[in-house]
Amino acid sequence: MQNIVCLQLLISLHLLRCVRLRSCPRRGRNTLPLWIREIWAYMRLLVQSFYFNSLTDSDVVFDSVFEPVFWTVDYVTRWFGTLFVWLVVILVSSILVICYVILLPMVLKTYSPEGIAWHLCYGHWNLVMIVFHYYKATTTSPGYPPTEKNDSPFVSVCKRCIMPKPARTHHCGICNRCILRMDHHCPWLNNCVGHLNHRYFFSFCVALTLGCVYCSISGRDLFLDAYNAIESFKHLDVVKPGVPTNYQTPAPPYTFKDKMIHKSIIYMWVLTSTVAVALGALTIWHAVLITRGETSIERHINSKERKRLAKRGRVYRNPFDYGRLNNWKYFLGVEKKSHWLTRVLLPSGHTPPGDGLTWDAFPVKKDLIPV
Ligand SMILES: [Zn+2]
Ligand SMILES: [Zn+2]
Repeated sequence: MQNIVCLQLLISLHLLRCVRLRSCPRRGRNTLPLWIREIWAYMRLLVQSFYFNSLTDSDVVFDSVFEPVFWTVDYVTRWFGTLFVWLVVILVSSILVICYVILLPMVLKTYSPEGIAWHLCYGHWNLVMIVFHYYKATTTSPGYPPTEKNDSPFVSVCKRCIMPKPARTHHCGICNRCILRMDHHCPWLNNCVGHLNHRYFFSFCVALTLGCVYCSISGRDLFLDAYNAIESFKHLDVVKPGVPTNYQTPAPPYTFKDKMIHKSIIYMWVLTSTVAVALGALTIWHAVLITRGETSIERHINSKERKRLAKRGRVYRNPFDYGRLNNWKYFLGVEKKSHWLTRVLLPSGHTPPGDGLTWDAFPVKKDLIPV
């Protein structure tokens, strides 16, 4: 009987405690009932558990916030890739038409035989280099890691492909797969720039920059003449017949053909000069990266690592930097002196050294379980 009374007393005390906890507001500034605060704390923990980890920093927060923007850019780039390629083809073709239809007859009429030979030889070499490297850069696969089980070493596992990632391999959100020695995804090629087509991409940039510089320099006088002619033509338009003008000599009468030639030359000069500056800067930047032995993606990684180790008083060394000249030889596939002519200055379809999976000086993590 005593036990039953004790049990009833305990149950009553527990119920009273529950009621007090639910009904009594907490002392202090927070006046919400405990059960609301408990639910709120639980929901907050739940939301935090979706994204929080010990590595969360400002970069992760930035990436998470701008994820929809990145996704949209990836989506647009993927679907407009073909359009960009056509844009390159149309713009280059338009310059070619102007060169062959307008400039070449002028060169043949007015230049010396040496001048004609120079323009014909250089212009056509440059054209072949542009077309060859653009075609190869767009159609050559950048190189993908093997999808079947193999013994090649890897450094991590791609979270999206759920596949092992060899050293220097990165996932491309636009191609939606891992790329060997990935540099970047180029919308103008509608292709990733990676181990197998990086040289074609760089050679195309160099060739197109040289072509634009060549057009800008050779067409400078023609551009100034055309610009002045268009300006004088505008004055002719605004002067009404019969109204006396201040001009000492009347402006020359331009035919429709002359106007089209002038406008074409202005279009060519403005386009080639703009591309020469913009693409020239990009090409120089890529040349600097190649000299350092790093890709565009590795530049960010190496920069972070350099800062991290500098705080500890240590110096970071890029494991893929084999020395300036060796980096270039490796990148261009130059194995003997004659290759500078046959593989660099002339179109060449040789494959880069190595398989893109293993790298000599890279410290492979052997403790990971191969998949
Ligand atoms: Zn991947
Ligand atoms: Zn890609």
